[in-house]
Amino acid sequence: MYAGPLRSLVDELGRLPGIGPKSAQRIAFYLLRVPTEDALRLADAIVSMKEQVTTCTKCFNVAEGDLCSFCTDPRRDTSVLCVVEDPRDIVAVEKTQEFRGRYHVLQGALNPIEGIGPEQLRVKELLTRIGEGEVNEVILCTNPNLEGEATAMYLARLLKPLGVKVTRIASGLPVGGDLEYADELTLGRALEGRREVDA
Ligand SMILES: [Zn+2]
Repeated sequence: MYAGPLRSLVDELGRLPGIGPKSAQRIAFYLLRVPTEDALRLADAIVSMKEQVTTCTKCFNVAEGDLCSFCTDPRRDTSVLCVVEDPRDIVAVEKTQEFRGRYHVLQGALNPIEGIGPEQLRVKELLTRIGEGEVNEVILCTNPNLEGEATAMYLARLLKPLGVKVTRIASGLPVGGDLEYADELTLGRALEGRREVDA
């Protein structure tokens, strides 16, 4: 259909989430038309991101270097930990401006069908952090869907015996949805209205 390089670009773009074959073709032809430096800026951004963005060794958020900006910020409250599934959820929580503590990214949610158990998530690391004794409250801020709720319940049972206050964001978020798509007002209210979990 197309010459080799154009075809491989269409193929690569088509592998991206949410990009179908038609969009892949449109983007490839767009990049073919734009000045070389504009197209290279995109290529450079991808290379730099892959070379420089790491995972925070403490909370598993995205970072540049060993620790992320939240873990190194002395103004963030170390006694409250907000547990999320994904670094994108941190962005959603930050937008609410309701939270000044620190985070812990699980890197997913429990999903037995897909073979994701506690060992596949950063649960052990969460327990280690709580064991250090600085955390008083853990806010379970996993998605308001089946997997997120199951993960929250699992963690609540695990954490309560450790003597920390365990809270869950209030309902009111669209059920089955993703935190990252919740508007900041709704998520802010859900955070504010969090309740202690009975487990
Ligand atoms: Zn961090």
